[in-house]
Amino acid sequence: MTAMSLPFLDLGALHADLRADLDAAWREVTEAETYIGGPFVERFEEAWAAYCGTRRCVGVSSGTAAIELTLRALGVGEGDEVLVPANSFVATAEAVVSAGATPVFVDVEADTLLMSAATVRDALTPRSAAIIAVHLFGEPVDMTGMAILAAQAGVALIEDAAQAHGATWRGRRAGGLSQAGCFSFYPGKNLGAFGDAGAVVTDDDALAARIRMIANHGRPPGNAHLHDCLGGSDRLDAVQAAVLLAKLPWLDRWNDARRQVADRYRLALAELPLTMPARLSGGRGANHLMVVQCDRRDEVRAALAAAGIGTGIHYPVPCHLQGAFQAPGRRPLALPVVEAAARRMLSLPLHPHVSAAQIGIVADALASALLARPALAG
Ligand SMILES: *Cc1c(COP(=O)(O)O)cnc(C)c1O
Repeated sequence: MTAMSLPFLDLGALHADLRADLDAAWREVTEAETYIGGPFVERFEEAWAAYCGTRRCVGVSSGTAAIELTLRALGVGEGDEVLVPANSFVATAEAVVSAGATPVFVDVEADTLLMSAATVRDALTPRSAAIIAVHLFGEPVDMTGMAILAAQAGVALIEDAAQAHGATWRGRRAGGLSQAGCFSFYPGKNLGAFGDAGAVVTDDDALAARIRMIANHGRPPGNAHLHDCLGGSDRLDAVQAAVLLAKLPWLDRWNDARRQVADRYRLALAELPLTMPARLSGGRGANHLMVVQCDRRDEVRAALAAAGIGTGIHYPVPCHLQGAFQAPGRRPLALPVVEAAARRMLSLPLHPHVSAAQIGIVADALASALLARPALAG
């Protein structure tokens, strides 16, 4: 396999920005000899709550765990329905099932590819217990509309902000726009650890305490030998917390760089026969992914790969069509917008170190792939 000249992701360049800090973090953790919980985790929790503008943060083992723990702590489970967008990473719906509840998939808006109050409303039933707003690609969902809908319906509203570290809706940070915001720090996210890690942020002290308890074998605060409920080992570890503490001061700079890359793409691709997701006027996205939609997507993708440009697809099979969510004898519901988009979406390289020259190369490669005459049949 030839090396990509423009990889989809470049964590090496990112880590070179703060090599010395990462080395120091590793040394401090190994010297402190606390590995699960402890001072690094507490410091990161404080810093991440402050960043998100919430009272509390509970560090957990992954973004998937963050969602499952939040649902369980809210009392959402058996017999409850949870509304999730069909266009998301599978973990959103997977966490619903792990909590014992049933995911109900909803479509997305054609212009933004995000769920909205309008796409959620018709799927509400008397069994609806919660809505998970997914800020997909790092673009914030209209949380004003979503909060009104959730309040009217009497259901919980939480965020899957796994792609939206630092994004804002009407000036307030993602994660702090609902009862609880769930984050992943998977290495490729805008803020990534050196392994699996996640967090829940909330203003609700009691909810935070319940999440912490369930994540730690049901232990009440400060007592290792009592188990007030059943839980598991879903805690954040000190190594990941130390890495996240070292990286956090860079997040805004990296997000600014991502925005500049995304804005340059929007200019460079403006005349090409492809569509880019609309940005809502109340939002400022974290630009986690640069998703375009075009015809002959797989051919275009292959042409970019031949030119040394790495791409991704988020996501080629919508969640409601995945085998894991099929029930015997039941036809999957039709969600036309996400199904059409799944055949056309293509994610271009977007990370803080993509240069203006590289964007020009991608634009040229896209132009020749898109404007090439389709091969004559026969
Ligand atoms: C990454 C991601 C998750 C899951 O996070 P993990 O830390 O990998 O468990 C959930 N939802 C979305 C939208 C994601 O992108």
